[in-house]
Amino acid sequence: MFSNNRRKLLQASGALAAVGSLGVASRAQAAAPRVVVVGGGFAGATVAKYVRLWNPQIQVSLIEPNPSHVSCILSNLVMTGAAGMSTITLRYDALRTRYGVNIVADRAVGIDTVSRVVTTANGTRLPYDKLVLAPGIDFDAIPGLDSAVLPHAWQAGPQTLALKAQLDSVPAGGTFVMSIPKAPYRCPPGPYERACLLADSLLRRRRAGKVIVLDANSDVVAEPHTFHTAFQTTYAGVIDYRPSSEVLSVDWAGKKIVTNWETIAFDAANVIPPQRAGKLVAAAGLLGSDPATRWAPVNPLSYESKLVPNVHVIGDSQGTGQPKSGHMANAQAKVCADALVRYFAGEQPDPAPMTSSACYSPITATTASWLTVVFAYDPVSGLMKAVPNTLAEAPAPTKGHYEDMFGWARNLFADSFG
Ligand SMILES: Cc1cc2nc3c(=O)[nH]c(=O)nc-3n(C[C@H](O)[C@H](O)[C@H](O)COP(=O)(O)OP(=O)(O)OC[C@H]3O[C@@H](n4cnc5c(N)ncnc54)[C@H](O)[C@@H]3O)c2cc1C
Repeated sequence: MFSNNRRKLLQASGALAAVGSLGVASRAQAAAPRVVVVGGGFAGATVAKYVRLWNPQIQVSLIEPNPSHVSCILSNLVMTGAAGMSTITLRYDALRTRYGVNIVADRAVGIDTVSRVVTTANGTRLPYDKLVLAPGIDFDAIPGLDSAVLPHAWQAGPQTLALKAQLDSVPAGGTFVMSIPKAPYRCPPGPYERACLLADSLLRRRRAGKVIVLDANSDVVAEPHTFHTAFQTTYAGVIDYRPSSEVLSVDWAGKKIVTNWETIAFDAANVIPPQRAGKLVAAAGLLGSDPATRWAPVNPLSYESKLVPNVHVIGDSQGTGQPKSGHMANAQAKVCADALVRYFAGEQPDPAPMTSSACYSPITATTASWLTVVFAYDPVSGLMKAVPNTLAEAPAPTKGHYEDMFGWARNLFADSFG
């Protein structure tokens, strides 16, 4: 993607030459280029790290209100008690000390895309030459649903522990109801994985309960072979899968969920609402004026917004049609970092970027499956397209895949935050 020689050349050439060659030097001849990143998840942390790694002359500030990132990846294992929060808590120390990223511990609240300034909640103003937005996802409201009370746990952290408490509260013979929103949403196999682990947990605790899965989609969205097999064999009589079932409202006090078909009583529940790009993306005008647009249209060569210049959107908030996964967020972040480094060197982005995604799904307490796909840029359509024959799922869940899952996650965590 980016040769070592060219990286060294850039590092040696310094910011003045880089800025001057672009004509952006008019703002201040002596100033180093400034990249501001909003959101320190897999996408934001990776782009901040790689811009600095590939050209340390570029100043990078990362705005993130949380002191560490709590990963959704592996978080279903925290729900069951198989892993602790420390396994999924990732610190920003290496970004700061090893790569010299300026970590701004605050929330971005405003963007002036004309003056190119980001404002944070405490009033700090951060000017930028290039802005990268990586704020993850936001949720649609569902009448009666208060996620502080009934957690979605589709952002990890306190929500993960609240979901664990829901699971722990299921009485013997009780009913756990969970819902899956219409695609596209974060992590296509994730909700089905969660259904399996909820069922596994109830069986292991000998609660003889039931897990009702309300899927707003007409069929399993990812790894259909794996999950249909799990629902019909491993969890026969425990998981009750109901496709085309959309949650319309929740009655928390009465412990009932209303769908387009029926009203269902629950003892514990996990409603995952429909999703859209993180709030700041809409606020900055990156979704345009059509309220039906949920994800930011971007050019996949650089992830620059198609609507607002010098603002790039990566990770779950972007709308290229690639799956919304941490692995994919990491890959997009590197394409974006490469494009930014090239931009400050007066060069065009790589004309043929490739990305990939992998999701490991625990199916029981000791086995897992996986799903992978590779994407390549198609110059004719200007879109990222799945490379033929690369979309694959594990033939069957195994213990070996379960062990590989931790190695894969460790690598991804280290590549993004380490
Ligand atoms: C149960 C589950 C299992 C999953 N398993 C896998 C898997 O096996 N493989 C895989 O690749 N992916 C998996 N994923 C998906 C993965 O977690 C997401 O795709 C990934 O986290 C997206 O990264 P992101 O950086 O776009 O968003 P996030 O990780 O959500 O990061 C966004 C960050 O932006 C910050 N932020 C938001 N707004 C602001 C603001 N205004 N100012 C400053 N900061 C802000 C947030 O605090 C957050 O830290 C899973 C997800 C779930 C829910």
